Amino acid sequence: MLKGKTAVVTGGTRGIGFAVVKKYLENGANVVLTGSRQETVDKALEQLKEYKDRVMGICPDLASPTEIEAAFAKVTDAFGSLDILVNNAGISARESIYDYSPDDFTKILDLNLKSVFICSQAAAKIMKKQGGGVIINTSSMVSLYGQAAGCGYPATKFAVNGLTKSLARELGRDQIRVNAVAPGVTKTDMVAALPTEMVERISSTIPLGRVGEPDEIADAFLYLASDMASYVTGAILSVDGAAMT
Ligand code: NAD
Repeated sequence: MLKGKTAVVTGGTRGIGFAVVKKYLENGANVVLTGSRQETVDKALEQLKEYKDRVMGICPDLASPTEIEAAFAKVTDAFGSLDILVNNAGISARESIYDYSPDDFTKILDLNLKSVFICSQAAAKIMKKQGGGVIINTSSMVSLYGQAAGCGYPATKFAVNGLTKSLARELGRDQIRVNAVAPGVTKTDMVAALPTEMVERISSTIPLGRVGEPDEIADAFLYLASDMASYVTGAILSVDGAAMT
């Protein structure tokens, strides 16, 4: 479904991002994954050896315009284009408002929101020249409902939805589609490490009766990146088993 396309997936070393990287590679794309440290990037690449001619790993500061422009120039040098950008890197928060330090609030804004703006801006410049492209942001089900602790996290995801819808409108004329996937609770390492009873308790509140698998979330990213979604832009696609926080 993505043969000949080149994708950048931020936060592609593990969890949802790694599942997207694999899905895109299985579907013929060239993929550049980013991580926060060279060590985790290398670990991810080690698991993708069978695709070694089509996959690269880098670890730029996602909120630095100069680092991102240089990184994306490397991508186009290596593969000839940048067709798909997945803004997926993110951290969560659980602090109460009473203990939440302004520095921690700024930190989550920088990664979950500012980096989405910086990477989208750099990619859009390349995609406009190419005649089009696709940007997909990782939102969350909390972007619809908020959550009862760690208010910085849903605040960034509400803002990601706003960026998604606004950039879809601004970039449509340049044939750049912009969408978001809003996953529910997903069985990444963090969820897999929770006690079984806790996962069962969470699952019992979800109409489909279970948490999502990273591969199921990655399918939504494949659809939105592919030509099957050629008339879809500005969408926030929930993939959450109809969960409500
Ligand atoms: P994860 O912790 O397994 O992976 C996070 C990725 O982000 C890693 O590749 C990591 O290297 C990268 N990253 C973290 N800090 C970084 C930094 N400072 N600079 C650059 N990269 C950094 O997380 P995940 O659960 O797979 O989450 C991925 C995305 O999905 C996030 O945007 C998250 O908000 C969203 N999400 C996750 C869930 C869930 O249940 N797991 C649900 C909804 C939304």
